[in-house]
Amino acid sequence: MSAHTRKSVVQTMAAESRTRHEERPVSGIDLPDQFGAHVFNDTVQRQRLPKPVYRALRRTIEKGHELDAEVADIVANAMKDWALDHGATHFTHWFQPMTGLTAEKHDSFLTPTSDGRGLMEFSGKELIKGEPDASSFPSGGIRATFEARGYTAWDPTSPAFLRKTARGATLCIPTAFCSWTGEALDQKTPLLRSIQALSQHAVRLLHLLGEAGATRVVTTLGCEQEYFLVDRRFYYARPDLVAAGRTLIGARPPKGQELEDHYFGAISERVIAYMQDLEQELWRLGIPARTRHNEVAPGQFELAPVFEEASVAADHNMLTMEVMKAVAERHGFACLLHEKPFAGVNGSGKHNNWSMSDNLGNNLLEPGHTPQENLKFIVFLTAIIRAVDLHQDLLRASVAHAGNDHRLGANEAPPAIISIYVGSQLEDIIQGLIQGTTPTKKGAEKMQLGVTTLPPLPRDQSDRNRTSPFAFTGNKFEFRAVGSSQAVAHPNTLLNTIVAESLDFLATEIEKRAGKGERREAIDALVREVLTRHQRILFNGDNYSEEWVNEAERRGLLNLRDTPSALARLAAEKNQRLFEKYAVFTPRETTSRSNIAFHTYMQRVNVEAQTLKGLAATVVLPAGMAHQERLARSIQGVQQLLPRTDIKAQLECLEQVAKAICDLKRSLDHLEQARSQAEGHHGTHEQHAMAFRDLVMPAMVELRTHADLLESLVEDDLWPLPKYREMLFLS
Ligand code: ADP
Ligand code: MG
Repeated sequence: MSAHTRKSVVQTMAAESRTRHEERPVSGIDLPDQFGAHVFNDTVQRQRLPKPVYRALRRTIEKGHELDAEVADIVANAMKDWALDHGATHFTHWFQPMTGLTAEKHDSFLTPTSDGRGLMEFSGKELIKGEPDASSFPSGGIRATFEARGYTAWDPTSPAFLRKTARGATLCIPTAFCSWTGEALDQKTPLLRSIQALSQHAVRLLHLLGEAGATRVVTTLGCEQEYFLVDRRFYYARPDLVAAGRTLIGARPPKGQELEDHYFGAISERVIAYMQDLEQELWRLGIPARTRHNEVAPGQFELAPVFEEASVAADHNMLTMEVMKAVAERHGFACLLHEKPFAGVNGSGKHNNWSMSDNLGNNLLEPGHTPQENLKFIVFLTAIIRAVDLHQDLLRASVAHAGNDHRLGANEAPPAIISIYVGSQLEDIIQGLIQGTTPTKKGAEKMQLGVTTLPPLPRDQSDRNRTSPFAFTGNKFEFRAVGSSQAVAHPNTLLNTIVAESLDFLATEIEKRAGKGERREAIDALVREVLTRHQRILFNGDNYSEEWVNEAERRGLLNLRDTPSALARLAAEKNQRLFEKYAVFTPRETTSRSNIAFHTYMQRVNVEAQTLKGLAATVVLPAGMAHQERLARSIQGVQQLLPRTDIKAQLECLEQVAKAICDLKRSLDHLEQARSQAEGHHGTHEQHAMAFRDLVMPAMVELRTHADLLESLVEDDLWPLPKYREMLFLS
């Protein structure tokens, strides 16, 4: 975008924003009917399937029973008829390969007949299995290209849905994506495996705690999604936003978020129109969008759904991100999901609200009112505390990627040090359990699990610590280090796995230590032991403070500051064994995932470096030169016409610009040298990623300082890129 067009965009926007209105009204009365209207959900299944088929399908969904071929044909046919009724022509297996995005390949239902007409057909086989060409998806070395075949397999636990446009609709079938050897090539398969592992050991533990009715445990998940909206014309005028999802240069605006006037502020008319359109579309897809508000940074917003079973919630979050981007386009916005689109204002996260629930719908992290409920709560809490302490490395690695490095540890987001916030009341209770005293400190009466009732725990906002990466918020944990752009299946897979291991450990210990009579005492003693050993992971203070960094070091907690350091732990021996034991990843799958993550980091930084180089050389430098030339000519003119004028100050301006240009050019050369050195680095994926971190990242930071200084010096009319103050404040 030339300087001229940048100006005209701003001017036309000012005129347009007064005339923009949303055409489609939202009706609360329609909502119950609209919710899930584009989903092949339980209601539709019941209506459209013969009773025995319906029952067989429910058994598959709820208990994982295999669906036989005949039944699958009937289900597929009903699905097709339903899709046709909604205007569909195509179907696709919808999956989550290791790109961090979703993938789809569409086929039409059309089957030509011998007499030259067409039938619309869809078989059980097509529903259950697909064969996309897997060769172009990342596999991290799991298969060579010549044996690239992979297949998608229907995941009946996540309902099929329709994606509609003005011109038609596509039936989307959520699937898992595997190689022909059965190895996972996606994010979904390991998530399902991890839930299974957690369920198995949670049920075991529940039985030991006297909950005989428990047959299955699921994890529940609610993702609070943060995002930025910028006008689409600004977006297209910023090659860095288009290529890297974040601005690589840009001087801070005079007004950022200092006044704290955006958080929960009145939502502008243009943005509310976007949100309403977005919600309508999500509701029809059965996604329970609930909360919307302005976030801390200007131009930043949040959408939160009601929680669901994790496998469905993970799919729904992927879909939510897609719909957010699509609807933004219709409203002339670009929706930015990057963790740090703009330096100097808050970045975006995705608070991962997580809990466990049994088959009767009981939340296992609900403290409850009876001694029995409290016992259950404390034992599961203990398992989580142990898991997070033992496997800090995995939680940290689960959120490690290039975008999140600009956010974690900045004084706005959870730090790279993993710790748990439980609040002061619960901390007192935990200390009481460790010391064997009542939390009320009233007497010497011993707190006995399963006999004593816990005092009610507060669940109000005031007791919440917003700085903690992993916080207990009343009846769930909030994993806040997850990045806004992430596919949540991955962090949840790791979280479920480490908790499964801890539940297994507790169950095994209880079985070992207790004959029937003394089980309660054995549990008491075990809880005390485990809490004593792992209490160092609990921290209720300010996670942003320098003291915490030192204190955490004294406690021996990990502080893995950047993506390569965190990823280096993923495939460690202990983790390979852990994943293998709980059948979440084979060692080969673990290695492949680690390779993919390192490679992706390296590619991301490389794309950023090349984009920055191009911007600096072809946009920033010429703008600086043009400004320099104007200044030089202007000073020369003054000198000629008014030779006695004191031009010292003017020459200083020129000198400052000239110096900034020199510095920019020098750091530009340095960046290119660093980049090619890192690129030519031969070694493991890990070493390669580290080279990009150590050589390229600092060179980019250096170049940016000079570019941003030039932005503040160059005449506004000569600056071709949309500025922060425009992108963040004009819509
Ligand atoms: P906030 O944390 O912003 O105060 P809430 O506590 O109401 O808001 O919930 C935030 C998110 O946590 C929502 O998406 C909500 O559905 C989800 N959530 C609430 N309970 C659970 C649970 N048991 N399991 C998983 N997520 C939950
Ligand atoms: Mg929250």
